[in-house]
Amino acid sequence: MAVLASDQQLAEVCLDHGADEVLLLPPLAPDQPLEAWVPVLVEAALIEDPDIFFVGASQRGKEMAARLAAGLNTGLCGGCTGFRFNPETRRLVMERMIFGGAAVQTVECHGRPQMATIAPRTFEQAATVAGHSGAIRQLPAAPACPVTVLERIPKTSGTVDISAAKVVVCVGRGMEKKEDIALARELAAVLDGEVGCSRPVAEDLGWLPEEVYLGISGKKVKPDLYIGLGVAGQIQHISGIRESKVILGINRDENAPIFEAADYGIVGDLYEVVPRLISELKNALKK
Ligand SMILES: Cc1cc2nc3c(=O)[nH]c(=O)nc-3n(C[C@H](O)[C@H](O)[C@H](O)COP(=O)(O)OP(=O)(O)OC[C@H]3O[C@@H](n4cnc5c(N)ncnc54)[C@H](O)[C@@H]3O)c2cc1C
Repeated sequence: MAVLASDQQLAEVCLDHGADEVLLLPPLAPDQPLEAWVPVLVEAALIEDPDIFFVGASQRGKEMAARLAAGLNTGLCGGCTGFRFNPETRRLVMERMIFGGAAVQTVECHGRPQMATIAPRTFEQAATVAGHSGAIRQLPAAPACPVTVLERIPKTSGTVDISAAKVVVCVGRGMEKKEDIALARELAAVLDGEVGCSRPVAEDLGWLPEEVYLGISGKKVKPDLYIGLGVAGQIQHISGIRESKVILGINRDENAPIFEAADYGIVGDLYEVVPRLISELKNALKK
């Protein structure tokens, strides 16, 4: 198994976790866009001729995967959540959610390599392999690219990486006003977690940055604990959180769909439930 890495440190982590070889991407000059890597990667893939080529569905990965598939004249199955091997066709069967998570589509790619993107944290990290050794090989420098980056403007939102949080407290439209997000922040702080939200809270109300809304079109998370505060639990939201280890829904409507996906549910007004929860947790954590 060969893995691509953009820096030496990451390359060593890949080797520790069982990669046989790591192909190190060449550094990019400040005026070179990510797509400058595409011809380097296409060239490497043509030489290595892998059966399967996975790309992480990160912002960067998504940007590159389609270009790579076009360069390799093969198909690409985006946002896969599962894979199995078909012994009859000797191809990979790729699974991805469609219709907002209501159905699973299975895809076999007839091109070569069989390419797929996988959202971060879809699978557990491979365990480290004691005594494993492998090689790191530097790929050649990226050729001149017809696109030049004129300026890079850093994001000002200063948001956290919600997909790395162990506990996610999610604000839904059941919250009445922006200032009340302080309640969610307090609950998240007690549990050492982060605050996320449903799509309308970010996109329609603009109360939280779009980087932290969860769901089919937002971030997918797999925390140990997800708590939905006034989140209805529509399928498009649930498909981004369903792999949480424990789901707790707090909603005043006992028929809210979140209770179908939740491991635990509290039917009640979040403005009554959450302060009591915070107080109980603080007491319990003091002991
Ligand atoms: C193509 C497409 C993609 C989408 N992608 C996403 C996505 O990625 N992520 C996403 O989140 N949504 C997505 N949506 C939108 C999704 O369908 C829902 O509309 C959205 O998730 C609803 O957000 P909500 O639960 O916060 O709000 P609402 O549906 O308005 O629900 C609010 C809930 O709060 C409860 N409530 C109200 N007051 C209180 C209170 N005081 N205490 C307790 N409970 C209370 C209500 O009972 C209700 O259940 C998508 C929609 C489409 C069509």
